[in-house]
Amino acid sequence: MHFAELVSLFGELEDTSKRLEIRQKLSTFLVKVEADELPAVIYLLQGQLRPEYEGIELGVADSLARKAVALATGLPESTIQQHGSHSGDLGDTAEALWGEGRKPPSRPLRVREVYDRLTGVAEAKGEGSQEVKVGLLRDLLTSAEAKEAKYLVRLVLGRLRLGVKEMTLVDALAAAYAPEDQFKEARGAIEAAFNVTSDLGEVASSLAAHGLPALVGVRAQVGKPVRAMLAEREATLKSALDRMGGTAALEYKYDGLRLQAHVPGPSGGPVRLFSRRLENVSSQFPEILEAIPLSLGPGPAIVEGECVPVDPVTGELRPFQEISRRRGRKYDLTRFQEEVPVRLILFDVLLAPEGPTLDRSYPERRGRLEAMVKVTDRVDLAVREVVDDLGTAEAFFHRALSDGCEGVMAKSLAPGSTYRAGARGFWWIKYKREYTHELADTVDTVVVGAFRGRGRRAGRYGALLVAVYDAQAETFPTLCKVGTGFDDKTLEDLTRRLSSREQKEPPKDVVSTLVPDVWLEPSLVLELRGAELTLSPVHRAGDGLLRAGYGFALRFPRFTGRIREDKSPEEATEVKELLRLYQTQVRHAEAEAPEGPPGPHRPPRKEPGASPGGTESP
Ligand code: AMP
Repeated sequence: MHFAELVSLFGELEDTSKRLEIRQKLSTFLVKVEADELPAVIYLLQGQLRPEYEGIELGVADSLARKAVALATGLPESTIQQHGSHSGDLGDTAEALWGEGRKPPSRPLRVREVYDRLTGVAEAKGEGSQEVKVGLLRDLLTSAEAKEAKYLVRLVLGRLRLGVKEMTLVDALAAAYAPEDQFKEARGAIEAAFNVTSDLGEVASSLAAHGLPALVGVRAQVGKPVRAMLAEREATLKSALDRMGGTAALEYKYDGLRLQAHVPGPSGGPVRLFSRRLENVSSQFPEILEAIPLSLGPGPAIVEGECVPVDPVTGELRPFQEISRRRGRKYDLTRFQEEVPVRLILFDVLLAPEGPTLDRSYPERRGRLEAMVKVTDRVDLAVREVVDDLGTAEAFFHRALSDGCEGVMAKSLAPGSTYRAGARGFWWIKYKREYTHELADTVDTVVVGAFRGRGRRAGRYGALLVAVYDAQAETFPTLCKVGTGFDDKTLEDLTRRLSSREQKEPPKDVVSTLVPDVWLEPSLVLELRGAELTLSPVHRAGDGLLRAGYGFALRFPRFTGRIREDKSPEEATEVKELLRLYQTQVRHAEAEAPEGPPGPHRPPRKEPGASPGGTESP
């Protein structure tokens, strides 16, 4: 396929923000792509070269891209720089200046060729790599037409930003490869396969080559992180137990970093650790890398657990904040290893040496896990007890708290309790310590805008506009404005960190009626606590779900001090979760209200445990 065809799609996608239109344009395009070229197209549409978990960054520095544009156009770098600072986008500048003094390319560029050369740019490392990158990019640009140059420049800068989300691609693939009346099933199968492999390029190409049946029962593979199974919440332990039919396994809910450990098997290769965001974080926990084979044998295996900080002397659990000191650290690793030692507490197995386990029930997986793991001082199993009465459950919960955990996870023992990659459901229910007169849980919000500080806070952000995630619409609707809970240093750090993401226009996927002083491209997730969720005409989270024209807002929001580096914006609290939080809060309030006949002044009582539409229940 000619690169020009893909570029023309880029242009069309840039001109629309309507999701249906985007999906339609994508699906019409995708059917035309050969199976072997499909992965490249899928990655490029997202501004990537490989699935995200491989962490291959295209983003070259502005100065490097400028140099390559100068060489390809034959214009002085100062001209490019001048034009660039005027247009604000080096891609636009390249397009505008392309005609001047250039010979037209001798033959059209092909997608495969562009992809391979961009890979070369990304892979050039070490001494002299900057010159190599400039050279490769110059050659590529020299073969490009003006429009192609514009998008090549944006691609290498890591600023393609077409707004094509993974789920939109899943929809588009389903529309492209399944008859209309099977769209829903196809989408489900594609999403499920993607949740297991985290590689949409691979899923797309096996779909194109072998059709939908190829995606059924896709197995977890060592080296490819599986999307985490997620928990629902309940307001009381009783309702959690009731929801599971009176019997459940309770496990300690550890407060650390969720890690997936991939053990390669006898054929060899390194053990890899992936975070919940599917990042390869192996290098940050060398002691866990070492400990895994001693505890699990040669594999192949994929296990999941929570990596928690422990006291170097007593071995007791330490607060979560301590482990965050180790995240992203490249230097001084040894010192931090001594100061903040960690332990991996395993709670699930996704692939066992004997075969795949995703489709096995939780009791079976837990049994397999216990048989596989040799407990050491670095690798342990989550404390667990099967309970069938509230008294025992409460005692277990209090033991969890006094052992330094934040609560418990109730896990369904039903035969259907398979590992549901990437799905949130009532097969797992989290229950945390309750905070009187506060919302029962914290909310993870995405920063989408900022208001400039005044007085003591002049020169930095004074408050932030934050949003939650609407998975259905793939948007970030606002939840509140928050300025409490930040000390001056944090605000200064946040300002420094986020200012490169400032935008004049609201980002395409942000839904807000408030206009902040600056818009921020969604990137950072902050944990907030608040007094309650209220319905608000100002904020757009869950707009119209409970009342036309109203969304949810968090009252008296306060930053807890915890930046959720482990969560991507799309992993922030979802609108669907807010609805449940709102409902449990309503139920709380009802439970506290004096008993009496329901009158017109009291809202009708909701079915206890009523689940919001579409949420699975064991
Ligand atoms: P939350 O981050 O509050 O949504 O809670 C869910 C998280 O709890 C999971 O993603 C895990 O990282 C963590 N967790 C801690 N202990 C367990 C456990 N025993 N089983 C499952 N998840 C656990």
